[in-house]
Amino acid sequence: MIKLLKFLRPYTGLVIFILIFMFGQAMAELYLPTLMSDIVNNGMMKGNTGYIWKYGGYMLLVALGSSLCAISGSLLSSITAVGFGRDLRSIVFTRVESYSLHEFDKIGTASLITRTTNDIMQIQTVLVMMMRFLIYAPIMCIGGIIMAMSKDRTLTLILAVVLPILMAVIGFFASIIVPIFQALQKKLDKVNLVLRENLTGIRVIRAFNRQYSERKRFTEANSDLTETAIKANKIMAAMQPLMMLFMNVTSISIIWFAGLRINLGKLELGDMMAFLQYAMQIMFSLIMVSIMFVMVPRAQASAVRINEVLDVSPEINDPKQAKRSDGKKGLVEFRNVTFSYPGAEQPALSNISFAANPGETTAIIGGTGSGKSTLISLIPRFYDVDSGSVMVDGIDVREMSQKDLRARIGFVPQSAVLFTGTIADNIRYGRKDATDEEIMHAAEVAQASEFISSMKEGYNSEIAQGGTNLSGGQKQRLSIARALVRKPEIYIFDESFSALDFKTDARLRAALKKETKDATVIIVTQRVSTVMDADKIVVLDEGKIAGIGNHKTLLESCEVYRELVYSQLSEEEIA
Ligand code: ADP
Ligand code: MG
Repeated sequence: MIKLLKFLRPYTGLVIFILIFMFGQAMAELYLPTLMSDIVNNGMMKGNTGYIWKYGGYMLLVALGSSLCAISGSLLSSITAVGFGRDLRSIVFTRVESYSLHEFDKIGTASLITRTTNDIMQIQTVLVMMMRFLIYAPIMCIGGIIMAMSKDRTLTLILAVVLPILMAVIGFFASIIVPIFQALQKKLDKVNLVLRENLTGIRVIRAFNRQYSERKRFTEANSDLTETAIKANKIMAAMQPLMMLFMNVTSISIIWFAGLRINLGKLELGDMMAFLQYAMQIMFSLIMVSIMFVMVPRAQASAVRINEVLDVSPEINDPKQAKRSDGKKGLVEFRNVTFSYPGAEQPALSNISFAANPGETTAIIGGTGSGKSTLISLIPRFYDVDSGSVMVDGIDVREMSQKDLRARIGFVPQSAVLFTGTIADNIRYGRKDATDEEIMHAAEVAQASEFISSMKEGYNSEIAQGGTNLSGGQKQRLSIARALVRKPEIYIFDESFSALDFKTDARLRAALKKETKDATVIIVTQRVSTVMDADKIVVLDEGKIAGIGNHKTLLESCEVYRELVYSQLSEEEIA
């Protein structure tokens, strides 16, 4: 929590104003009972109407001042807290954007979302309370005690008995409720998790008729959260009347003893009334402090979760001095690369060496889980290698700026990701300043123009969230068009043709060939028919290279490749 408060710095001026206002409010409220006792003692009891009018006017002014301070204070503290929340969200978001894929795997998407929204909200709420009460409550408490003592020392003994009891009661309740509040946050996390999984996996859930068990799972998490929240509220609800009872009993005893002292002529009526009010103020401020003590641990739990996000230092950073290269447009080389995912027992890739030359098509083939996607994700530096190096245009990717590196690459990921917006917007994602002609051309090459023009609004058709209103093959072709419009030096296709029928696949690759004449093209696939005419084929098997060559040489020399070929093609096709 303390650590996060450094982001309050831009609001220092506002916070100082808030504190001044709260100080003003406290002072005014402490002054009011004294004024009142003056009016009662010197005005009412002595029948001095002029005095009553004069001091009544003062009282009104002081009350007005106190209200103004209260209003300004709470307005400013809301503004500050909301602004702080906005800043913090943007800081968290920026930090998360700089994460490498490793770090995403660590915290998890669902939790990242809860942390940026709900957790920051919790802190925001407590911040308002802190700014309001941090100065106000102690002043009211200590000031109240001093003022009460100035009215009547003997009566203060009642407070000496009552206040410790009050604190003990509050302490008792707090010790019960704080753990409940902390549990609440975790249970909310759980509800979010189940809900997210259900919403994203709705198709699978329906297909496998799991609605009932999913509903049960959700209901469990939901009622767990509800029960805990009800428990917390029950305790809070019990606390309120109990406190009122306590305060009323205190009032009665004050009036009782004060009455005795007034009879003895040792206390004036006005002072008794003032004393009563000070006692109330003291108790209220104690209750406010105790509410803060209950809320702060809850926010503390959130603060820890946010700090976790901020404390991750991204593994992948730009070098201090980025190198740029000019010649050798698009040459990609792997030199003895070994890479493992964190926590994995075996490296996902070991001793990979090959080069993909400009103007050539390099195909990477291998079974599922052989490390193909892993291999190509090293080129845009989504991950860093353990040993060896990945070179683009003769420079290690770790020595280039990420922006410069990725600008050279047109990447088509294994699962096509589209964004909400029109089809044209999605293709233009590849290059901001692409003209309409370029977009249409890219769609043409990607064999997408046909289905786009058959849609009602053509290139202006809206794509639903996650592209759910398109087929898998249509999504793939749009993400290919997006890479094409970029006109990069290096094209990477990760099983980008897998959802296309063989005819469209062949047509697309023929069109691509013309389009990508001078570029380096890397195609990842499991289909032998897709790689047969590639200039170079790299065969991957369990993260190792089983052979490099063209279709013909591999067929003779590489056992793994031969097996793939025989399992997919008929005798005639092979010959
Ligand atoms: P392919 O694309 O050839 O099907 P991948 O490169 O996706 O294979 O996966 C290679 C291996 O790496 C698999 O054993 C897989 O379990 C593992 N793997 C892939 N992604 C991750 C990840 N994010 N974290 C940990 N292990 C992973
Ligand atoms: Mg893959």
